[in-house]
Amino acid sequence: MKINIAIDGPSAAGKSTIAKKLAEKLHYVHLDTGAMYRCTGMKAKNTGIDLEDEQTICDMLKDTTIRLTPEGGVYLDGNEVTSRIRTDEISLAASAISKHPGVRADLVARQKQMAQEGGFIMDGRDIGTVVLPDAQVKVFMTASAAARAKRRYDQNIASGIPSESLETITKEIEQRDYQDTHRSASPLTKAPGAVEIDTSDMTIQQVCDAIWALAEPYVTKEDE
Ligand code: C5P
Repeated sequence: MKINIAIDGPSAAGKSTIAKKLAEKLHYVHLDTGAMYRCTGMKAKNTGIDLEDEQTICDMLKDTTIRLTPEGGVYLDGNEVTSRIRTDEISLAASAISKHPGVRADLVARQKQMAQEGGFIMDGRDIGTVVLPDAQVKVFMTASAAARAKRRYDQNIASGIPSESLETITKEIEQRDYQDTHRSASPLTKAPGAVEIDTSDMTIQQVCDAIWALAEPYVTKEDE
């Protein structure tokens, strides 16, 4: 049987890296829901829509396709935007538009639809609470702001994305943490039944092993 695995947590806690690695091990599909909020924020910004204007962003979404490929590619209205959505400017735009209940309702409906058949590892902020409340495995992944900023900085450098200073990234992460935990629509919070893993001092392999230990009882041999 293929189960669904929900991974939530604050920005840059390593959710996507871990989800991707686990998906490879299990032959599951990794769905990075943050990429959908990033696409929405980027399109709104590029079209000159005020990020506070919920109705216009919702109308824009009716005419928007977002495709995530199993290999990690992100396509917005048919155009590849995989790395363009990773800038710090788009991170903040994504966080800003994600507070609108109408925007969330649209993207959550798309995510629920995608995960219907099982076999998904989804990462985001509201997966265990809203998108997949029945997921067999739920993880709440945290790490200190300093550890997360350092990881994001190293990641930017390694992938050739123009990076802000470590100090600026730390501020940006703290700002997003605040926005994501204080919004009234689906604020970031640990889902009932979620297992909290603080990854500050753990290697990627150690985190994968910890989640694998939670998933193993549900996963049949053919899924491995
Ligand atoms: O995960 P990532 O950092 O790419 O997400 C970008 C932003 O999108 C987050 O800061 C958050 O505001 C929003 N988001 C969300 N719910 C999700 C995934 C992302 O609100 N499920």
